[in-house]
Amino acid sequence: MLLLQSNHTSPSHFAKSSGAGCEEENMDDDALRKAMLVKLIEIEGYDSLEELMEAVFSDSVSPAICMNEDCNFVSEMEPDQDRGWCDECRTNTMVAAPVLAGII
Ligand SMILES: [Zn+2]
Repeated sequence: MLLLQSNHTSPSHFAKSSGAGCEEENMDDDALRKAMLVKLIEIEGYDSLEELMEAVFSDSVSPAICMNEDCNFVSEMEPDQDRGWCDECRTNTMVAAPVLAGII
């Protein structure tokens, strides 16, 4: 009688470490939103964010700006719009001022 003693120590620990994905885009995105907000306030001719927000909340519409570089297309949209259609770029890149400001 033979007792099969299989003490196989197979290295089958599939601990896949995904450490190669440096996603530090949050800071950049935040900075971009702030920059676009400042640009939007300028284009619309407001003196400050507060002034623009007052107009937004009394009208229930908001100026939105295209987030694509070198586009600067501005249009009236819903104040909570964050993927509006840009007629220039033909992409959903329009973001309304309150969203840029982080209010909505
Ligand atoms: Zn655009």
